[in-house]
Amino acid sequence: MPVSICTTCGTSFPEAPEPPARCPICDEERQYVPAAGQGWTTRAALAAAHANAWRRPEPDLFEIETTPRFGIGQRAFLIVTPEGNWLWDCVALLDAATVALVRALGGLKGIAISHPHYYTTMPDWAAAFDAPVHLHARDRAFVMRPDDRLAFWDADARTLAPGLTLLRLGGHFPGGTVLHWQGAAQGHGALLVGDILQVGADRKTVSFLWSYPNWLPLSGKSVARIAARLEPVPFAKIYGAFGLHVEDDAKAVVSRSAARYRARLEQDQPGRPL
Ligand SMILES: [Zn+2]
Ligand SMILES: [Zn+2]
Repeated sequence: MPVSICTTCGTSFPEAPEPPARCPICDEERQYVPAAGQGWTTRAALAAAHANAWRRPEPDLFEIETTPRFGIGQRAFLIVTPEGNWLWDCVALLDAATVALVRALGGLKGIAISHPHYYTTMPDWAAAFDAPVHLHARDRAFVMRPDDRLAFWDADARTLAPGLTLLRLGGHFPGGTVLHWQGAAQGHGALLVGDILQVGADRKTVSFLWSYPNWLPLSGKSVARIAARLEPVPFAKIYGAFGLHVEDDAKAVVSRSAARYRARLEQDQPGRPL
């Protein structure tokens, strides 16, 4: 029996003779069902029509993107540390080439995921590399394919390894998490953010939304809380969800962007720069 994968969001569902009637992730207001209706694929059909492309944004970081684009265009990052390799976020396609390449790099010590839009085929990655998947417990209800290797944490921070810390920021999802990697950017630090912070097309700003496809904002209060939470954290770069990264001065970018966002919400001056 195949595992069904939602073609709109990339979420996988347990083995069954038929795909599920609906995808609860797409039915929810932070996603959508396309006009043509819900579509499904299998792991074999996905692997036959797609491949993973790899980039290396810095010496100990690989970015993995499925091509042609699949689901919401998820990307994963593989971080190389002296204690082993970590996968941040996840993509639906785990083909033979990806398994061989990750094994050649030394396998995975663990997997951590920002929020449910990246859960994709996480049980397959966990099984292939015998690695736990660290998920925030507040998003547990969004797990569509339970697995013994899913490890739920319920706090505001969790250290995975020296210099590698998960921070729950909430916002887009209650358990919305970013990863702080102190060794990145020659020791200046980086945040890997999924779309808990969304890097702007200008790569000089970030923004904060509740629903990206349906254009629903976060409250000014939530954004102030997120900015305050990041205030003591040292980082120079942000690696965003969709190939957009803030290359330097990222900490100032976050505080400037949060202030701009709150001013936009509160000022009634249409069309005028703030
Ligand atoms: Zn879906
Ligand atoms: Zn999302």
